[in-house]
Amino acid sequence: MTAIAIPPSIASRPSAQWLSKPKQLLINNQWVDPQGGETFDVFNPATGEVIAQVAAGEAADIDKAVKAARRAFEDGPWKKMTPSERGKIVWRIGELIDQHCDELAELETLDNGKPLAVAKVADVPLAGDIFRYMAGYATKLEGNTIPISVLYAPDSQFHAFTLREPVGVVGQIIPWNFPLLMAAWKLAPALACGCTVVLKPAEQTPLSAMRLGELALEAGLPEGVLNIVTGLGETAGAALASHNDVDKVAFTGSTEVGKMIVNAATGNLKKVTLELGGKSPNVIFKDADLNTAIPGAASAIFFNHGQCCCAGSRLYVEKEIFDEVASGIAEEAKKITVGDGFDENTVMGPLVSQEQFDRVTKYMDIGLNSGAKALCGGSANEAAKDGGYYVNPTILVDTHEQMQVVQEEIFGPVVTAMSFTDPEEIVARSNDSIYGLAAGVWTADISRAHRLAKAIKAGTVWVNCYNVFDSAMPFGGYKQSGWGREMGHEVLNNYLQTKSVCIGL
Ligand code: ADP
Repeated sequence: MTAIAIPPSIASRPSAQWLSKPKQLLINNQWVDPQGGETFDVFNPATGEVIAQVAAGEAADIDKAVKAARRAFEDGPWKKMTPSERGKIVWRIGELIDQHCDELAELETLDNGKPLAVAKVADVPLAGDIFRYMAGYATKLEGNTIPISVLYAPDSQFHAFTLREPVGVVGQIIPWNFPLLMAAWKLAPALACGCTVVLKPAEQTPLSAMRLGELALEAGLPEGVLNIVTGLGETAGAALASHNDVDKVAFTGSTEVGKMIVNAATGNLKKVTLELGGKSPNVIFKDADLNTAIPGAASAIFFNHGQCCCAGSRLYVEKEIFDEVASGIAEEAKKITVGDGFDENTVMGPLVSQEQFDRVTKYMDIGLNSGAKALCGGSANEAAKDGGYYVNPTILVDTHEQMQVVQEEIFGPVVTAMSFTDPEEIVARSNDSIYGLAAGVWTADISRAHRLAKAIKAGTVWVNCYNVFDSAMPFGGYKQSGWGREMGHEVLNNYLQTKSVCIGL
């Protein structure tokens, strides 16, 4: 058995005490061992050491969890609860998240590597907020009355209306970049709508979702409403996506796996929503306020170490200000202290895993070998020699659209910077991607801002800001960045289906 290495910084904290407990599966409100008895190792990205051994759920466990979710959906108290009671439980989960902010943030830093301060001010509060936002919808899932024009007989009359009903048993598969927040974005609306859930966290970062499972039980979720099966993507994830008694699968992750999910869903034609990759353009015009645009563009790519599906990874700068902006962002990058997320000076922690470290450094090499120049970064950080997955924030210049680093999602702190001369060409260049998740536009010209917001094919366009998220604002992708939207009232469409009822009078 591998030794577990708890970092000294949290040794006496509730998060460390929680960590020492066995890491089992949540099925039907019980924490149970996986049927195969296997576990997998979870690593601290700051050191490469093992911090937990977590139950490796497989197809048999997924099946057991789906059965529990099915019973809870068809026959459990969940179905009979009033919307107000359901909403209260969802609200309470949000409150418990807030009350356990420090502990959840520590688990997030330990598991994902992000700076503790960021987890405390962003990941955890946003996760609490989406539960409270969605709790209010539980009592507002209304249909419509429909005026009917068709006449079956001269005096026929009808009363028609729609019901908004929960879609049923939902499989949710989430990534490792915002482990708690992605669980919250998925769970909160599903629960508010009255669905039951089998959640599969990412194998790199399962810890905070498991702690969230405990809090959800404490909040009063009845048996089987939320089941959490930790495990690998190709086993537990694939079994969930292909299970014939799952009514809907909601996935966030890579476009490549998203396509596998779509294929896996064909057996019973379960509903599918996907939040996938991106290669988001971030466009700076010469009339922009560079005092905000430069740090804004730096944060667009370096926030969360570039491990954001919406990272502003393709920077386009109007030619006259290109050098000023590129060197300004390089200055910002040089100010970034790379280190352990528990160190309070750290601005950028390690990447999440060895695999991610290999991927990002490989892309840096591909860029440099194909003619790009690193204005800063371009390599692993020297802290990586001690085993952590550290890389340097990187700006690649002398890049063009045909390069792999400009077309493919790197998912690390690497931005490709290009100039443009003709403001008219920038829409086509921005849209020159298989992705369409997000975009940034920096300009003082309000007409141009509106024109670009309409013309850019992306699910979110930020103007004179970037990475602004709110529970009320829908988020999701155009093109190969996904199907459906998370957050806002739009997400309810993911978890509800509409029934028309027509009564002959
Ligand atoms: P990344 O490449 O960023 O690690 P992935 O798309 O591989 O992202 O992973 C996102 C989520 O999808 C994780 O929970 C992972 O376990 C899961 N996953 C990976 N492969 C599959 C698969 N074949 N079927 C279902 N889920 C999968």
